[in-house]
Amino acid sequence: MNYRHAFHAGNFADLHKHAILLAMLSALQEKSPALAVIDTHAGAGGYDLAGEMARRSGEAQAGIFRLKAAADAPAVFQPLLNAITQMNGGKDGDLYPGSPRLMARALRGADRYVGCELRDDDADLLRKTLAPCANARALQADGFDTAVKDAGKGGRAFIVIDPPFERPDDYDRIVATTRAVLARAPDAALAIWLPIKDLETFDAFLRAMETVTSDLLVAELRLRPLTDPMKMNGCAMVMIGAPPSVEDAAVAAGDWIATRLGEPGGRSRVWRT
Ligand code: SAM
Repeated sequence: MNYRHAFHAGNFADLHKHAILLAMLSALQEKSPALAVIDTHAGAGGYDLAGEMARRSGEAQAGIFRLKAAADAPAVFQPLLNAITQMNGGKDGDLYPGSPRLMARALRGADRYVGCELRDDDADLLRKTLAPCANARALQADGFDTAVKDAGKGGRAFIVIDPPFERPDDYDRIVATTRAVLARAPDAALAIWLPIKDLETFDAFLRAMETVTSDLLVAELRLRPLTDPMKMNGCAMVMIGAPPSVEDAAVAAGDWIATRLGEPGGRSRVWRT
């Protein structure tokens, strides 16, 4: 467990993931009176982009700092930009929210949020991040197991799965968890984040997911052509139970990131299976 999200916070993949997550949360809230959000891989909940880890990677400079400076950022990024401003006390600052802070602060009274984090250091930070949020709690527990145990226990389940992909079985565990969640709570919505390095791995995952459900919305973002499988060349959000408006949000977010932050040959594609 070496992965620290602090190195990657605010990078192009976070912008894509967080803009789409907020759009999906809001669309689900319009349809369901109470949501039970389970963030299976929560991380610390919030990050200081002026800190050592973020500065060392430089990924936020190529991501959120360019979005904040852009004059043409589409409306899909506004909820994320508003959350950043709020976290920085209304000023321009270096704090960047992770998925826990973003979603926990967007809850209604009847919604609840559970963020799972296994690492001691990030679990401590997560507890502090969520402390001011009434309906949110941090759990130092395996996120895959928690999602299955909790699904269907009150409120429509919205499961967010965002592993570090350090372990070779992460892909298999996502598929197994999705299957088990949908068996317990057929109306559950899921949003799964994936890195894209090569097409074979991505395609194999989609084919495995198609054995679980025929209701997939895929938002694929390539920052550059997939010529070097050792690099994270792009990322994807794979969603189940996503309302139609999420498709428009994914197109807007992906197109802007691919054209403004990508290299020649970068592109975004959104489709339903
Ligand atoms: N979702 C976060 C966000 O968008 O702000 C980032 C999460 S980061 C990609 C993945 C996190 O999952 C890491 O902090 C890692 O320690 C944690 N983790 C790894 N395996 C886990 C597991 N089985 N259950 C819960 N957390 C896990």
